[in-house]
Amino acid sequence: MSEAVVVGAGPNGLAAAVTLARAGLRVHVFERNDTIGGGARTKELTLPGFLHDVCSAVHPMALASAFFRAFELERRIELRQPEISYGHPIDGGRAGLAYPDIERTVAELGVDGPAFRALMGPMSAHADAVSSFTGSALLRVPHHPITTVRFGLRVLEQGSPAWDARFEDVVAPAMISGVGAHAILPMPSPATAAAAFSLGAYAHARGWPIPVGGSQVIVDALAADLIDHGGTIVTNTEIRSIDELPPADLVMFDTTPRALVEIAGTRLPDRYRRSLRRFRYGNGVAKVDFALDAPVPWTNPGLRAAGTVHVGGTRAEIAAAERAISRGRHSDFPFVLASEPTIVDPSRAPEGRHVLWTYCHVPAGSTIDQTETVIRQIERFAPGFRDTILASASHTAMDMERYNPNYVAGDIAAGKATVRQLLARPTVSPTPWRTPARGIYLCSESTPPGPGVHGLAGWHAARTALRDRFGQTEGPDLGIGR
Ligand SMILES: Cc1cc2nc3c(=O)[nH]c(=O)nc-3n(C[C@H](O)[C@H](O)[C@H](O)COP(=O)(O)OP(=O)(O)OC[C@H]3O[C@@H](n4cnc5c(N)ncnc54)[C@H](O)[C@@H]3O)c2cc1C
Repeated sequence: MSEAVVVGAGPNGLAAAVTLARAGLRVHVFERNDTIGGGARTKELTLPGFLHDVCSAVHPMALASAFFRAFELERRIELRQPEISYGHPIDGGRAGLAYPDIERTVAELGVDGPAFRALMGPMSAHADAVSSFTGSALLRVPHHPITTVRFGLRVLEQGSPAWDARFEDVVAPAMISGVGAHAILPMPSPATAAAAFSLGAYAHARGWPIPVGGSQVIVDALAADLIDHGGTIVTNTEIRSIDELPPADLVMFDTTPRALVEIAGTRLPDRYRRSLRRFRYGNGVAKVDFALDAPVPWTNPGLRAAGTVHVGGTRAEIAAAERAISRGRHSDFPFVLASEPTIVDPSRAPEGRHVLWTYCHVPAGSTIDQTETVIRQIERFAPGFRDTILASASHTAMDMERYNPNYVAGDIAAGKATVRQLLARPTVSPTPWRTPARGIYLCSESTPPGPGVHGLAGWHAARTALRDRFGQTEGPDLGIGR
């Protein structure tokens, strides 16, 4: 029987492992942490009975992922859709509310409704086509050329200094910038606009769901399938050198390119190692989790039904905060992402209590606790929030790296998601998962399609490896019961 080894049990490492095990290989996964999951873990971080997502919390990309569709994720776990995918408060009690229904969203945007519809409508109407080309290596010929061109034109407009030209009010453009800010880059820029149109399209098409039980259930479903198909997982084992691994036909790295260079060493040609060393890492996030004795008292009542809230004010304010961070300065008013999963999944906290997941953007390598800053930003749109807090847990950008070395200096994307680095992730190639060394592959979010819990990088890497090594042109069936 052929053997495969996977270094790292994040969603991509496990997606690769499941794909290889389903193809008939004996797969062994090694994970440095005491638990599997990487960026998809759920844990009591504050008080007993309060379950917090350690990293990822909201899963539009899992829902859009071709890998998870083949894996039938929605039959294995329960994803709950909040009534509102995301909300975006503005001072004065106003808010933009993104419903999984573009017309309902547009109807509440007043004068800018038609402009929002013109930009976002065609993207949400063709959300599957958007996920098809954003979900693979960008150097491939797109299957949906018309949607790709429409997407590109919107990216050029909303990524340029003329991004405000079609808007009269502040709410609709703030909504687009709030989604674009997920890229953690200065804006306007093509990369933030691309994030805005891909994630934005999902918000109005299939929604931004929250898993019952927390993000951990996604990786637990992968791990259970792997074990059912003969795989093994060893935790508490950090791989420092490729020589520590058992002999295998394939070795998949769910790590950064930097770690791959350190671990594989001279097995990789000099030239390739040099190009991996040129791969750049981005700015960071600082995480703050809260146990609450009541829901967040958002002034705008619509926000109380939103699974995700983008806290940062107007487009101009968000752009200023992101600019400060890109210059290595902390912002007093940073962009904060907030999610209160207990509005759809009460099992995450004792009866009547809530958990709030937040992170804000900070310069790479930050060691500053952002608890007060996050509370201040939320209080601005939810006065009285402070009084609902029972406990909090803070992780600085450097704590995030200590938790998981893939998050270099707090960069949760394991590599800046600029357009250049989306094209060269980590090197320019139509199959960037393959390294020049026979049998060695990179399968983490440092490869296409980049960050997010979608398993696509692992799936693409595993299918490339199966094709290269065993001539398997069709990926294995991943459905339940097969
Ligand atoms: C705070 C935060 C919030 C996020 N929010 C969201 C969200 O809401 N939605 C979303 O879709 N995405 C979100 N993300 C991003 C998402 O979590 C990542 O894109 C995703 O987890 C990447 O998966 P991966 O398998 O490539 O890597 P990871 O999940 O980082 O997993 C890598 C694994 O490899 C292990 N490892 C590394 N080096 C070694 C080694 N040498 N030996 C053994 N094991 C090793 C690590 O311990 C880790 O378990 C968030 C991330 C963070 C940190």
